[in-house]
Amino acid sequence: MNTHARVAVLGAGIMGCSVALYLARRGVSVTLFDEAEAPFCGASRWNEGKIHLGYIYSADPTLRSALHVLEGSLQFRPLLEDLLGTSLQAVISEQDDIYLCHRNSVVPVDAMAHYLDNVSDKVRDHPAASHYLADVSQARARRLPSEALGAVSDSEHIVAGFHVPERSVETNWIANRFVAAVHANPKITLRCEERVLGAIPATAGNPQGPWRIQTAQGTTESFSHVINALWQGRMAIDQTVGIEPSGVWSNRYRQSLFLRTSEPVQTPCAIVATGPFGDIKNYNGRDFYLSWYPDGLRLDSAAVEPPAAHTLNMPNPAALSMDILNHLEELLPWVRKIRSRIEHARIEGGWVFAAGRGELSDPVSSLHKRCDYGVQRVGNYLSIDTGKYSTAPWTAQQLVYKLFGDT
Ligand SMILES: Cc1cc2nc3c(=O)[nH]c(=O)nc-3n(C[C@H](O)[C@H](O)[C@H](O)COP(=O)(O)OP(=O)(O)OC[C@H]3O[C@@H](n4cnc5c(N)ncnc54)[C@H](O)[C@@H]3O)c2cc1C
Repeated sequence: MNTHARVAVLGAGIMGCSVALYLARRGVSVTLFDEAEAPFCGASRWNEGKIHLGYIYSADPTLRSALHVLEGSLQFRPLLEDLLGTSLQAVISEQDDIYLCHRNSVVPVDAMAHYLDNVSDKVRDHPAASHYLADVSQARARRLPSEALGAVSDSEHIVAGFHVPERSVETNWIANRFVAAVHANPKITLRCEERVLGAIPATAGNPQGPWRIQTAQGTTESFSHVINALWQGRMAIDQTVGIEPSGVWSNRYRQSLFLRTSEPVQTPCAIVATGPFGDIKNYNGRDFYLSWYPDGLRLDSAAVEPPAAHTLNMPNPAALSMDILNHLEELLPWVRKIRSRIEHARIEGGWVFAAGRGELSDPVSSLHKRCDYGVQRVGNYLSIDTGKYSTAPWTAQQLVYKLFGDT
């Protein structure tokens, strides 16, 4: 690729926008397509923002999943601060996470303890450990003594707890900065409310040459390259260029509770894993993310392209909020401190595409792994499975390095 390239980027979530901004820096003209009315309307705005160091993948003791996310997550903060021209300090959760092992966890306590230690070793050894959201060059997972565990959960279902140095970011805030950066960039043309239907080589049979995009509005002008970052819509477009889905996959639509309290509430950041799954993120004492996986799961689809989100049967938001709070409070009694001070609450959701299928309660479900996402290529058409929010800016940067032949 050279600076005269004209690139179509499909999908304006964190992946598409990161790629667009990196390409624009090189002088490339980018056209960014999205079917929504604005960038960042989906999963990239409404997620927990955990910047994964790999601790969550204890059901993959090979460490392949942990190692797959580690480098990109350690680089998340410096890359985004550079890309967005602003510090993330104000939107990083202030405390480390507490991982709670449920009695029905698919990973027994001792195996989880061993796994968390192994991940900590990898984190500490990594040369970029000090670049993370907080300095993790001394990373350790510490098992909570019984008194400290009792203060977090008095439930007989919680059998152990571990303090791990993982943090999150407020993704709604970051989404707003991305949208502003994309709008302000003269090299990026945004084409929102334009649904992508396919891609075709401009010269039949020559994928090494330019490409055109088929959208609901018709066939576009030609672009030197196409980069497909459509997340739940990605594989359907790949099929139009001959990349057939392989292996297993799932598209799960998940809803969570995003709330703000009227005054600061001191609570931990806690995650119940692995199997029974839910979490509470306390970003700054007033802004919270709460999820209880079975309550928030609207659809688990094995279709190549899941149905449009607006066609799903959505529950009443107040009733869903109540369910999530009730289920979390059964395990974590301090949730009532949060619910008694709610100033504003909203249920939001997004798709989770995964190259895996099954139930979280199944120890051998391929959903417990995240080690096989990345980029596929046919000539000048590239398709990116984002995998995780945590690693998206790094994956985008690496992709642009490769396209420019940087070493
Ligand atoms: C509840 C929840 C919690 C999560 N928590 C975390 C977490 O803590 N940490 C983490 O790392 N990851 C997390 N994730 C996953 C993370 O949100 C995603 O990996 C990431 O946001 C995907 O980014 P993306 O840019 O690929 O997709 P998106 O943000 O979904 O962007 C894709 C865009 O493509 C558009 N699109 C799709 N199909 C078409 C089409 N045919 N034509 C035109 N436009 C189309 C969509 O409108 C969308 O704007 C979570 C996800 C959810 C839902």
